[in-house]
Amino acid sequence: MTSTPQPLTLALSKGRIFEETLPLLEAAGVEVKDDPETSRKLILDTSRPDLRIIIVRATDVPTYVQYGAADFGIAGRDVLYEHADTHSRGLYQPVDLNIARCRLCVAVRENFDYHAAVRQGSRLRIATKYVRAAREHFAQKGVHVDIIKLYGSMELAPLVGLADAIVDLVSTGNTLKANNLVAVEDVAHISSRLIVNQAALKTRGAELRPLLNTFAQASGA
Ligand code: AMP
Repeated sequence: MTSTPQPLTLALSKGRIFEETLPLLEAAGVEVKDDPETSRKLILDTSRPDLRIIIVRATDVPTYVQYGAADFGIAGRDVLYEHADTHSRGLYQPVDLNIARCRLCVAVRENFDYHAAVRQGSRLRIATKYVRAAREHFAQKGVHVDIIKLYGSMELAPLVGLADAIVDLVSTGNTLKANNLVAVEDVAHISSRLIVNQAALKTRGAELRPLLNTFAQASGA
């Protein structure tokens, strides 16, 4: 008796990463059978019986790939940087796909003079989900900070006195503007990368490599 091999599993998050991965899948001749925005399914079938997609939170994508529950995935540089603070083994990052591009920025209330506060050597309170990136940014600049970890809606923190500044992703800038905030400094340019489970690359390389190569070519990487 021969057992059917497990399909290859690609971990993606909903939203921009999923949407901007669709053309890469299309280039590999793969069509996704469900739309994660309307379906509640967490495992999506594709037109290839040997490939399935799992939908997880963006911050969980590296974890699924690292432990081999997904063979490969796509995650933002922001997420990978924070993940690598605690665990980094078992993940191979072959390609920057240049998708879901945005900036990680320091932002403050419109009427807060950030540069004056920095010049005066003030100790600043920073609210962010990106604790590692924020800590390293301010350490490099020699700015004293207390970092408050938040899990979402960072924009609120300076408006209600929780923090002097936030470190958050900015794409169009509309969210900052709607909350009377301004970006005052770039921390990093962000885009999404392919990540691959190292053991899967060894044991299932023949199936994985053509997909990885097509993704890289289609993204212009
Ligand atoms: P925007 O209003 O277009 O500047 O988008 C800002 C909001 O979207 C913030 O709440 C960000 O955390 C979030 N955001 C922007 N770009 C990304 C991205 N590439 N991945 C995840 N979240 C993002």
